[in-house]
Amino acid sequence: MDPSSQVKKILIVEDDDSHAELIRRGFCENSELYQLTVATSLQEALASVQSQNFDIVLTDYLLPDGSGVDLVQKSARITPVVIMTSHGNEQLAVDAMKAGALDYVVKMPEVFGAMPRIVERALREWELMLEHKQAEEALLLQTRRLEHEVAERQLAQEALQAQALLLQNEIAERRQAQETLRLSEEKFSKAFDNAPMIMTITTRESGTFLDVNNRFLEVSGWDRSEVIGKSTTEVGWISSADRALLFESLNRDGHISGMALNLHPRGGRTIKAELYIETITVDGRERLLGIAIDVTERHKLEEQLRHSQKLEAVGLLAGGVAHDFNNILTVIGGYCEMLKLDLAPDTPLREKLMQISAAAERASNLTRSLLAFSRKGEVKAAPADLNLLVRGVERFLQRIIGEDITLSTSVPERSIWAVVDSGQIDQVLMNLAANARDAMPKGGRLFVELQHQEIDAAFVHAHGFGTPGEYALLTVSDTGEGMDEETRNRIFDPFFTTKVAGKGTGLGLAIVYGIVIQHKGFVNVYSEPGVGTTFRIYLPLVQPEKDCRSEAVAVEPCVRGSETILVAEDDPHVLDLVTSVLGQYGYSIIHAANGAEAVEKFRENDRIKLVLMDIIMPVMNGKEAADQIRRLRPEARILFTSGYTAEIIMSRCDLEEGAELIMKPVKPALLLKKVREMLDLTAQESSRGGGT
Ligand code: ADP
Ligand code: MG
Repeated sequence: MDPSSQVKKILIVEDDDSHAELIRRGFCENSELYQLTVATSLQEALASVQSQNFDIVLTDYLLPDGSGVDLVQKSARITPVVIMTSHGNEQLAVDAMKAGALDYVVKMPEVFGAMPRIVERALREWELMLEHKQAEEALLLQTRRLEHEVAERQLAQEALQAQALLLQNEIAERRQAQETLRLSEEKFSKAFDNAPMIMTITTRESGTFLDVNNRFLEVSGWDRSEVIGKSTTEVGWISSADRALLFESLNRDGHISGMALNLHPRGGRTIKAELYIETITVDGRERLLGIAIDVTERHKLEEQLRHSQKLEAVGLLAGGVAHDFNNILTVIGGYCEMLKLDLAPDTPLREKLMQISAAAERASNLTRSLLAFSRKGEVKAAPADLNLLVRGVERFLQRIIGEDITLSTSVPERSIWAVVDSGQIDQVLMNLAANARDAMPKGGRLFVELQHQEIDAAFVHAHGFGTPGEYALLTVSDTGEGMDEETRNRIFDPFFTTKVAGKGTGLGLAIVYGIVIQHKGFVNVYSEPGVGTTFRIYLPLVQPEKDCRSEAVAVEPCVRGSETILVAEDDPHVLDLVTSVLGQYGYSIIHAANGAEAVEKFRENDRIKLVLMDIIMPVMNGKEAADQIRRLRPEARILFTSGYTAEIIMSRCDLEEGAELIMKPVKPALLLKKVREMLDLTAQESSRGGGT
């Protein structure tokens, strides 16, 4: 609505009635447009302004109770005020304007008539001023708002920048962490996959396989798909009892370090393992990292070491016993030989004597086996045709096993040769046959088979024993009661026997073992309770040589003599034997019990033509005694005797090259022959010496 069309409310402040009348008249032309109110004092005017709304106030400068300026000061901000002054007081009007009056008019007759115009103009101006002020305020407001906004934006931007910086740092850090993580993950997964140990990741609660490494697959024989998602007990890798044990340890210690445990791969095998378990976090969940080291091989080696140490100890003992026993056998065998020479060829006593002699020979073989077992004795190894050996021993074996057991032997068409001590291999077969007999009290069958067998790396790998090469394989199997694993593991132990006291010595197989090892071979046993037992003996092969079968020297009739011989020997039994052999054949004997005595006796008797000198003797040994005798008489004939081999004697006692040596047990025929030879040589030399 047009504001000018409204009725304007005007307050006129004028104490002069005539002036007020003049002003009123000034509005009378359009009186319907103006509503006039007159106040005659400042107080009245202020009260009116406060109680009513006026569009405009026209006030005289001079009021009875104050100045129009007071009114201006108190109301000019709400209502436009126009000051009226008398002519000549314009300066006052200007002051009023400074205080806030909108306009001023000088009271003159023509001004009263122009009052409506003046009011309209003032109102327009007021309007403009208001608009201007509003606009200004709005602008100010907006400016403030904008300023505020800018400040806020700035703050926000700063914050954003700070955040960006933080983010950048974080990103860099994360990248670093990610890189580190990736590296460590890569390292772990490489180590996991290719570790030489068995590695698994399982859940803690049920032991379910989450991941397994290549070594696990290799050892266990399972496919990855066969185990992932299944528990360790479900697939049979760990027994339930062991799993319970593991759990207990884990709960107590938080980890497992080197627990000895059996693992069970596919196919019913058992692996001895050392187990380590740690808890790790995978994707925020606790898992078990298991590491197992296969120690089966190590166990086997330890077992072997223990076994060989035991054998070593018993070997020492057996060696000692066998040595003394050998001396006794020398005496028995020696007297048998002497009797053979004495007896008439056709006497029935001869057969009995042969039996004693054969028994002594076998006993001597047994001592050699014992020495072989103790690794002290000398193996009289020579290339031998094993076909002949097996055929030769067949008769003995049949006698050992008796009639209730059937013996079958088989040898290949082509002969198999090996470097063996035949007596010892006989012994092996006899010991095995004796055991087979004991395992078949109600009869059964015994097979002895000789074959050619090549052992390659694959064989060694599959069986866990042996060295690649060509072998003669001797198989001895029976249909007896067999043995369980516990027995089988101990049979080669010396003195291990399952037989009643008096029946078994527990030495049979220990001797077999010793002999086979000494021949650089190996022995293997296969046995099931109630089924039977098979022993396999592998002996290294040699190519056959011509004429390598040494035949016994044909016994020539022994030549008698009459010379005097000094016998230096500390063993009284051997001394007796030698003395009676030589005495019987006409020789005169002088005894000496040790080296010193021998030198003494030699000095006293210049009839002595030959000295039979044992090398190992108390007080003074044979070698020293011989040296002293040579000093007395350089041409003295000395024949050494010893139980050791020629090599040992040469290296230990440095006998001169060409020294005459005869081995114990002394064979009488050989002794007589050697003695005669040496004496004859002396006679020839002295007769030649006499001739010149
Ligand atoms: P011994 O025969 O004196 O007991 P061995 O060393 O010869 O001692 O044998 C040791 C043990 O090995 C025997 O007591 C027996 O338990 C077992 N054994 C050896 N050979 C056989 C076999 N052929 N069958 C069954 N058990 C055997
Ligand atoms: Mg036995």
